Amino acid sequence: MKNLMYLLICFLMIACNNSEVSDTAHDRNEVKGTLVSYSEEGFAPIPKNIILMIGDGMGITQISAGMYMNGNKLNLERFPIIGLHKPYSSDNLITDSAAGATAFACGVKTYNGAIGVNSDTMPVQSILEIAESKKMATGLISTSTIVHATPASFIAHQKDRKMYEEIAADFMDTEIDFFVGGGKKYFDRRETDDRNLYKELEDNGYIVSDYFQNDLIKSELSHKKNFAYFTADNDPLMVSQGRDYLYAATKMGMAFLRKHSQNGFFLMIEGSQIDWGGHANDSDYIVTEMIDFDRTIGAVLDFAERDKETLVIVTADHETGGYSIISGSRMDSLATAFTTDYHTADLIPVFAYGPGARRFSGIYENTAIFRKMKQAINNHH
Ligand code: MG
Ligand code: ZN
Repeated sequence: MKNLMYLLICFLMIACNNSEVSDTAHDRNEVKGTLVSYSEEGFAPIPKNIILMIGDGMGITQISAGMYMNGNKLNLERFPIIGLHKPYSSDNLITDSAAGATAFACGVKTYNGAIGVNSDTMPVQSILEIAESKKMATGLISTSTIVHATPASFIAHQKDRKMYEEIAADFMDTEIDFFVGGGKKYFDRRETDDRNLYKELEDNGYIVSDYFQNDLIKSELSHKKNFAYFTADNDPLMVSQGRDYLYAATKMGMAFLRKHSQNGFFLMIEGSQIDWGGHANDSDYIVTEMIDFDRTIGAVLDFAERDKETLVIVTADHETGGYSIISGSRMDSLATAFTTDYHTADLIPVFAYGPGARRFSGIYENTAIFRKMKQAINNHH
C-alpha cells in the first residue's frame, strides 16, 4: 500500500511537471536528443552557423503549387525535419509580416506593424543583434527593400513598419556585415533628414554598391570589409521581369560570412514576393517566386551538406491569399482559387536541416523559432 501511494505520488508529480514544463525546459530536453542523434549522422554536435530562410506568405499551398509546377520536385523535399508553427500576432489572429518576423527575430508576440518592438513598443534585442554580440558575422538578403518588414525586424526597432527612413537609420547602429536588397532611396535620398546613409556606410568601412554601378556578382568583395548592395531604388523586380539575384547573393553571402568571422554566422534570407503574388491573387506570380526561393534553398542545403556545422531553417511568416489548388488541375497545369487578398491564420510549415534541426519538429508558437535559434547560439558560444 505504501509502495502504491508512492507510485501514485510520483505519477502525479510527473503529470504536474509535464503540464508545467516551460518552453525553455522543453527546448533543453530536445537539445539532448539532438546531440545524440545528429552526431551519429556526421554533423558537428552543435551548429556554428544559422541560416534562417523566410518565404513571405509561403503556406502549404504555395509550396504545393511550386512543386507541381516544377516537375513535382522541390529542394524542400531534402529536409529531414518538419514542424508547424502558429503564426498569429498579439493583437490579431491574422498576423502581418512585421509581427510575424519580429516573432522569429526577437521571440515576442507583438502587434501587427511592429518592427523589433514588443506590444508596449519597447525594443527587444534580435537574434541578429545577439549574434553580433557573440562576434558572429551577420547578414540579411531580401527580394523586397531591405527596410521592408521582414528584414527590418532583425535589425531595426520601430513602432511602425512604414517608418522606412527610421528603419534605414537603424542599420547604422548594428554592425551588420553583409546585406543585399532594394530600397536605396531610403538611404541616399531621404525626406525626413539630410543624412546620406549610403555615404555613412562607406565612411564606416563598408564596400557599398548598387545595381546602377555594377552587377552584384561583379562586385568587389573583401572578406575583411563589410558589404552592402542595393538591388533597386525601391522594390526589386519580380522574377518574371528578370530578377535573378537571390541565388547569387545567397551563395556570395554564405562564402563571405564564413570567411568574415571565426565564430560562425547568422544569415536571414527572404523570398519576399511569394507574399505579393498572394496579395495579387496571381498564381503565376506565386509559382515563379516560389521556385526562385526553392532554387536558393538548394544552394543553402548544398552549402550545409558540405559544411556539416550549419543549421538551416526554412519557414514562412504566414500564408497569403487563402490559396488553393482545385479541380481541373493537372501536374504542371494548375487551376487555383483564392479566398482573400490578405493573409490567413493557417499553421505554417518549418523545415530544418543540420545540427540542432531535430528540435524544430512538432507544433509550436512562431516565437519558439527564436528560442530554438538562440539556444543554438548559446550552446556554441
Ligand atoms: Mg516580407
Ligand atoms: Zn503580405
